[in-house]
Order: sequence, then C-alpha cells, then structure tokens
Amino acid sequence: MTAQPDVRGDVAVLVPAAGLGTRLGPGTPKALRSLAGAPLLVHVLRRLSAAPSVGHVVVAAPPDGEDAVRALLVDETPPFPLEVVSGGASRQESVAAALAAVPSGFPIVLVHDAARAFAPAELLERVAAAVREGHDAVIPVLPVVDTIKRVDAAGHVVTTVERSELRAVQTPQGFRRNVLAAAHAQLTEPGGATDDAALVERLGIKVFCVPGAEAALKITRPADLMIAEALRLDQA
Ligand code: C5P
Repeated sequence: MTAQPDVRGDVAVLVPAAGLGTRLGPGTPKALRSLAGAPLLVHVLRRLSAAPSVGHVVVAAPPDGEDAVRALLVDETPPFPLEVVSGGASRQESVAAALAAVPSGFPIVLVHDAARAFAPAELLERVAAAVREGHDAVIPVLPVVDTIKRVDAAGHVVTTVERSELRAVQTPQGFRRNVLAAAHAQLTEPGGATDDAALVERLGIKVFCVPGAEAALKITRPADLMIAEALRLDQA
C-alpha cells in the first residue's frame, strides 16, 4: 500500500464571526450565543480541531468584541495557533482582515462562517482535498428543494428557474491562498459579495463544487437554533 502524504496543517481557516445576528433577535453577537451549553464559536473550534488539515485559525471578532471572544475561547486548547482579529462592517471586510493575519506557509485557505457552527470536520477535509487536487476555488453545495422563481418589484413572476441547475451554497469554501488574496484585492463595492466564491468568479476563475452537508446549516433565525438543538447537531 502506498503511504499517504502527511497533509496535517497545510490549511489556514478564516472564521468571520463579526456579524451581529440581528435576525436571531436582540442579544449578544451571533457567534457568541450559546447552543447546548457552548457558544457557536466554540462549537466551530471543536470541529476545526477534529480536522487534521487545519494548521492555523483566524477568527474575525465583532469590532470591540475581540476581548470577549478571546475570553470565550480561553479554555479551549485547539491543536493549532488561534488568532483573533477585529472584523469589519461587512462580511467581506471581516474576511479580508482575517486573511491579512494568516502567516506564510499556508497554501490553502478556507473561509468558514461561524454561523455554520456544526459543519463536520469531514466536510472541511473534503473541501481542502479538492483544493489540494488542483482546484483554485471549491464550494460545498446541496440540491435546492424549493422551486425558485425570479420576481419583479411589482410582485409578478418573471421566470421559473430550472431547479436541476440550482445549488444551495455552504461554507467552508476553499481557495488557493493567492486566488483568494487576488479576489479580495479587486473588491471595490461597499458591502461586498455574498460569498468569497462570487469574488473569485468575477476574476474569471472556475469554482468547483463538492457535496455539502445537511449539518452545515446556517444558524440565522431563532428556528434554526431549535432545529440544530432538535437534531442534536452539537453531538453529531
Ligand atoms: O449575516 P450573515 O448570516 O450572512 O453572516 C454570515 C457570517 O459572516 C457570520 O458568521 C457572521 O458572523 C459573519 N460576518 C462578519 N462580519 C460582518 C457581518 C457578518 O464576520 N460584518
């Protein structure tokens, strides 16, 4: 049997966690909210700790929330260096701030929303492996279950989009580091794109899809917290 190359630690993970999570209702920033006894960010960190490829993690904390995030993570002992930086007004600014903090020596960078707290380590490894195999940009996707229609401002249907061509996109999204850096360097509009792959697409670089995971659902509304709890995703 051929020995597998030791890939431990060639991936840096950026965790944008600076969102206020207003759709979850009033309270602390989303990444700091608790589910099953631990803040979402701690759940993220535990899953990253179970992924052998991860060699460095940078968390983008809410502006003025760096100390709160550090305090929250103080008891965690991940098997990689962990940095906390101040996030920005938009998700893209938070990702750019985290990217700037990644030391040299990490050819692969993954961007992973703190809101997808229960994405399993296998998913992260699947994305990292596809980048390692030569894809510049990799996203995890799931089939879309609803029929999707394009609607105009007056509320009339313009067209029904062919569902078999649609995919719902998750994180972690994986990139060759220089590709992600180039994508962020050309970001001009305030607010930015809804995900990092969209920036890469604008450069004309192909983005490759791998299967996503139901457990990587995005915690956005109060019902999502209930779903995650009911599915016992913290124990998955
Ligand atoms: O708001 P939304 O749910 O789309 O945010 C997705 C992710 O981006 C969350 O993990 C959130 O904490 C993060 N974010 C950020 N900086 C912002 C806004 C959102 O890091 N300014």
